[in-house]
Amino acid sequence: TVRVRFAPSPTGMFHVGGARSALQNWIYAKQHAGVFVLRIEDTDAARNRPEWTEGILTALDWIGIERGTYEGPHFQSANAGEHRAAAMRLAADGRAYYCDCAREDVQARTGSQYQGYDGFCRDRGLTEGPGRALRFRTPDAGETVVVDLIRGEPTFENKLIEDFVIARSDGSPVFLLANVVDDLTMGITHVIRAEEHLPNTPKQQMLWAALGVKPPVWAHVPVVVNEKRQKLSKRRDKVALEAYRDEGYLADTMRNYLMLLGWAPSGDREIVPWSVIESEFRLEEVNPSPAFFDEKKLRAFNGEYIRALPVDDFVAACQPWLTGTATIPPPPWEPAGFDAEAFAAVAPLAQTRIAVLSEIVPNVDFLFLPAPAIDEASWVKAMKDGAGELLDAAADAFEALPSWDAVSLKEALEAVGLSRGLKLGKAQAPVRVAVTGRSVGLPLFESLEVLGRDRALARIRAARV
Ligand code: GLU
Repeated sequence: TVRVRFAPSPTGMFHVGGARSALQNWIYAKQHAGVFVLRIEDTDAARNRPEWTEGILTALDWIGIERGTYEGPHFQSANAGEHRAAAMRLAADGRAYYCDCAREDVQARTGSQYQGYDGFCRDRGLTEGPGRALRFRTPDAGETVVVDLIRGEPTFENKLIEDFVIARSDGSPVFLLANVVDDLTMGITHVIRAEEHLPNTPKQQMLWAALGVKPPVWAHVPVVVNEKRQKLSKRRDKVALEAYRDEGYLADTMRNYLMLLGWAPSGDREIVPWSVIESEFRLEEVNPSPAFFDEKKLRAFNGEYIRALPVDDFVAACQPWLTGTATIPPPPWEPAGFDAEAFAAVAPLAQTRIAVLSEIVPNVDFLFLPAPAIDEASWVKAMKDGAGELLDAAADAFEALPSWDAVSLKEALEAVGLSRGLKLGKAQAPVRVAVTGRSVGLPLFESLEVLGRDRALARIRAARV
């Protein structure tokens, strides 16, 4: 059976590129009735933190790879014994040898530039001892062909591959070996991982063969780049899956978009149900060239996903931004100021206007704050040329209305505007700023209706003084 694994290192926030690889592995396993294994590669003790592991598990849950539905998590650190045993076996079989050369020694022998290890200790017959690293003896001739589902058969000349270290001089196996030994003991048949690892693949394939096991099939998925064609980096780009979640991207948007990096479903479609992606995706069809992570497009996508939600789901999805969570800051209003009924009334209007869920806050804060949060620039622009008289007239007309509803409010303001030679749009501007604090936002008359007669009139009159 097909066994794939996702093997992140818990050394930082969970990267969107990692999420992409995880999803591809997940789908591949599903399509082949195989097993998805999660292995946390936690052997870099200096850089690991348990909260990063938790972050990975939580982020995977979020995009639909849920705890309890896959094998693991296994932890690489638990397999130190196997890693060590494999290194010893390679030494005992003569596939690896001990070496006490310092880099400077090699350089002194081979000339100015270090071009890889020169093989000096190959036949010196050194035994294990302090200061001695274990090196794998690579073939001097021939080539190593990697069978890659995405890249065909990348071929590497063996003579260009140095006798690489598999265990350090303190005896600890290096990552390259640990990674192979784990894949091998876990019975991994397909290694689907990021392109960045391809240069190590011929070495790893040699290790598989030396350990007596047929190497897996490889698939190196394309590197993810920004608009400048630079590899996404955590210093430069927004790469943490959690950052997108906390800004209000939907999990469905993220996983759909991540699958479009280097691949597309049939029929020129981009937004398709997840079930279609699960059935149509073909790892073999992934384009090997770098995949552009287009944040603008992702945003537009998310807006479409938001608009497609049933309104009750939209209301539910907004809750973290209306109340705050551990990672999402609380909104600017007092909890007691929040009114779920008022929110439900304006939610359908907001749903068509926002691209990420966090944008719900500035759209509805006027309902829950005691006074609107005034945007200075909007205020200055709206409150000129007779705006004061217009506000007076609007307040009077509104106050006289027998029924406080959007239609009546609109008719009243239209009449006020008309008597001053103003189109409705012009007449609305100062009223909107007085009531919501901003020049853009939800439709004005519905907003006034939901805000209620007393608060709306008080705000219009207050803007006047
Ligand atoms: N732990 C490695 C990483 O996070 C994964 C190596 C692999 O997938 O083989 O980059």
